[in-house]
Amino acid sequence: AELPADPDLTNEIRQVKNTLFSYVNPTQPSNPKLIHASEEVAELVGISKDEIQSEEFLNVFSGKEILPETKPYAMCYAGHQFGNWAGQLGDGRAINLTEVENNNKFYTLQLKGAGKTPYSRTADGLAVLRSSIREYLCAEAMHYLRVPTTRSLSLVLSGDQVLRDILYNGNPAYEKGAVVCRVAPSFIRFGSYEMLTARNELKNLKQFVEFTIKHYFPEITGEPKEQYLKFFQKVADTTREMILHWQRVGFVHGVMNTDNMSIHGITIDYGPYGWLENYDPDWTPNTTDSQNRRYRFGNQPHVAQWNLFQLANALYPLINEAAPLEKILDTFITDFEKDYKTMFLSKLGIFTSSEADDKIIKGLEEILQLSETDMTIFFRNLSKIKKDDSVEQAFEKIEYAFYIPEEIKENILDAWQKWFTVYLKRLNVEELSDDERSEKMNQINPKYVLRNYMAQLAIDAADKEDYSLVDELFQLLKNPYDEQPESEKWFAKRPDWARTKVGCSM
Ligand code: AMP
Ligand code: MG
Ligand code: MG
Repeated sequence: AELPADPDLTNEIRQVKNTLFSYVNPTQPSNPKLIHASEEVAELVGISKDEIQSEEFLNVFSGKEILPETKPYAMCYAGHQFGNWAGQLGDGRAINLTEVENNNKFYTLQLKGAGKTPYSRTADGLAVLRSSIREYLCAEAMHYLRVPTTRSLSLVLSGDQVLRDILYNGNPAYEKGAVVCRVAPSFIRFGSYEMLTARNELKNLKQFVEFTIKHYFPEITGEPKEQYLKFFQKVADTTREMILHWQRVGFVHGVMNTDNMSIHGITIDYGPYGWLENYDPDWTPNTTDSQNRRYRFGNQPHVAQWNLFQLANALYPLINEAAPLEKILDTFITDFEKDYKTMFLSKLGIFTSSEADDKIIKGLEEILQLSETDMTIFFRNLSKIKKDDSVEQAFEKIEYAFYIPEEIKENILDAWQKWFTVYLKRLNVEELSDDERSEKMNQINPKYVLRNYMAQLAIDAADKEDYSLVDELFQLLKNPYDEQPESEKWFAKRPDWARTKVGCSM
């Protein structure tokens, strides 16, 4: 289906009605330079290794040149931000170059940070090197962790300076500008549908939903209403699976506004994200949300449901029946809780079910919070425990995960010993051998995640034109579940200097 064209083709900031996109070309970068590219993502979209090094690659993915016979565009969408209706937002600094088909799959290639669009509002349409490195590395790290996500094709320096509203000694601070090319089946968000319903553009809504289903979900068939419901069910299911993975690896998105929710159930828009270091369900990496903590780790499943509720409202005019939508929303949480239990037990190496398991989970969640305990290290080292270990032996294997070991010894050693007594007993009921269990656990509990301080080190080096750490982390995080003895230094607790959050404004 052809989408209606934007009647106004000038690149002016405005409300864009009766359509969901505007044609706009990237801004010319003054001196583009390729920092990094993913060979695997290139191959996915039909670009060879050799082509990555070409001038054409640099020109296209920096925005200097437009591919022949393509018409780049920015998308119009709305959204709920921090629980409030925000009206039209749109791609203020993202431009879709084109869609490619490779091996029967569709991929949209999108530049982020390539200049102003009709949706830039008061901002500059640009991205700084710092946030671009964070997005580029994190998306790929998530993919290799088996978390559904947008992919990163390339990271390019624009050669331009970008002014951010940070002052150093009273002087405005300039940072290096960068452009990331992201890849996804599409960049359609919950907010795309919300936009049309809020404006009562119901004919467009119907056309857009039908386009979405036909193009991206061809497996969905049936009567129109039935199709819309199946579509909503599919988005709910993939979103649930995505959040489950986030909770498994300790990822906190930080800005789960409905304009940052993909209809493909993939993680999108890496801003002030973070990984749990000490296990704290109340933690959020987003400093602008430190009061309400709406987007805290432990709240992500409920926010996902809330966001799906907004999508349901947007689709409602096509369905005109609340009950089937409500049913999908209700089962979202009950299904999530079921899946969460299985997932959490698998992190513990428990693959059968028993009545006492709820207590083991709850007990651990509580005790992990009594003292700063590194989530990644704790779960990874848990796989070293043997069925015949004594409580003391088991405890020794996870001790490295504690940020303040003295505190444990003084206050909560008892609680830990009690928990390990129950846990060891429970392990002995499992049929898998120690080695088998350990191998399975190590496919569930990553050894290496992109901790904030790691990204920060790569950013600091890149600022001095040393990109070796960007590549080192990229390579490391391609195999996050493998033992990589030469990289053991990255299996470490956050250093003290990184205890309070590292700057991650965009
Ligand atoms: P985010 O929360 O980062 O996903 O962004 C929310 C909205 O602000 C989206 O519409 C973005 O396109 C827009 N936005 C963020 N940063 C910029 C920027 N530097 N220039 C223009 N628009 C921006
Ligand atoms: Mg966004
Ligand atoms: Mg953003």
